[in-house]
Amino acid sequence: MTQPYEIDELISAKSIAARIEELCAEIRTEFSGTDKLVVVGLLRGSFVFIADLVRELDLPIEVDFLEASSYGDSTQSSREVRILKDLRGAIEGRDVLVVEDIVDTGHTLKYLIGMLESHNPASVKTCALVRKAERAEVDVHVDYLGFDIPDKWVVGYGLDYAEQNRTLPYIGVVAPND
Ligand code: 5GP
Repeated sequence: MTQPYEIDELISAKSIAARIEELCAEIRTEFSGTDKLVVVGLLRGSFVFIADLVRELDLPIEVDFLEASSYGDSTQSSREVRILKDLRGAIEGRDVLVVEDIVDTGHTLKYLIGMLESHNPASVKTCALVRKAERAEVDVHVDYLGFDIPDKWVVGYGLDYAEQNRTLPYIGVVAPND
């Protein structure tokens, strides 16, 4: 069945790989002295990104995952984030790098940082593959950012549209068929 929309490539697989190399060089510099780094991926959208990131990183790390709900109702006012799957390991006293697929309004990442900090880690740093800067509603710092993108719905490289398109090797913008 053909899908009722097209996908226009926004960021090629090659550009993603090149940017990940650059980000990992920065992350390696910051964390090469620590044997405590825990990389926390946010399910489900970050699963492809985190897989490429940690292999390129090539540091002794642990990997854990969190799953947070997208807002129960999508009204602008109630930006409530809920944890659907919690961490497996303890992070007290550990250095934590949270890996998000996409920062849109910033509410999810901000909530997760607060939640992680309540477990008394040594530090919490943030990494996101893409960010829609013009959609920001809260002030949240991304320490390691792949790309700023326009305010469009993007898919691929782990990101979905109605659970489809996660396996595309590039990031593309959903465009309705004419
Ligand atoms: P925020 O809390 O920053 O507004 O939203 C972050 C979450 O919204 C992401 O983790 C992702 O699940 C979802 N999201 C926002 N924009 C997009 C998009 O363009 N494509 C996809 N696939 N998910 C998005």
